[in-house]
Amino acid sequence: MKTENSIRFIFPGISVNEQTSRAIASAFLVQADPTIEELADIRTAVSEAVTNAIVHGYRNIEGDVEICLKVLADREIYIRIKDKGCGIADVEKAMQPLFTTAESEERAGLGFAVMQSFMDSVHVRSKPGAGTTVIMRKKLRGVPCRTS
Ligand code: ATP
Ligand code: MG
Repeated sequence: MKTENSIRFIFPGISVNEQTSRAIASAFLVQADPTIEELADIRTAVSEAVTNAIVHGYRNIEGDVEICLKVLADREIYIRIKDKGCGIADVEKAMQPLFTTAESEERAGLGFAVMQSFMDSVHVRSKPGAGTTVIMRKKLRGVPCRTS
């Protein structure tokens, strides 16, 4: 699929950067003319993946999160979020709704379920000790509301 535009940015995995990453994703992806609802869904999915990188991946260590955003042909959005944190031993299990390794922090175990419901596809590559990469795609289907 042809890439029409892309951006890559790297930031420290600290919680203030959850909102930074949402804001950059919105500012960049608006060029693909998402509806308000589509943009809200994308922002939420980015937020869930970045929060996971920060609170789980970099639980006891410091490290950077890398985000790559692409606008592909036919208004398809590609998002890759990568950390070099602790990694996930069993990705299939981790992606099941209500599974969490942080019950004591009142986490619901719904982050991956939210990403899956708001995006067309969510792929996770992870290895214990080597970090986690989440790749999400969404085709924009709404009627653009841009007037210019
Ligand atoms: P919630 O997102 O509802 O607050 P949660 O983060 O535990 O809760 P998910 O986002 O679905 O739920 O993630 C499920 C589990 O997968 C986490 O509890 C954690 O064990 C693991 N996980 C997810 N992302 C990462 C990551 N980037 N690095 C290491 N472990 C991760
Ligand atoms: Mg989560």
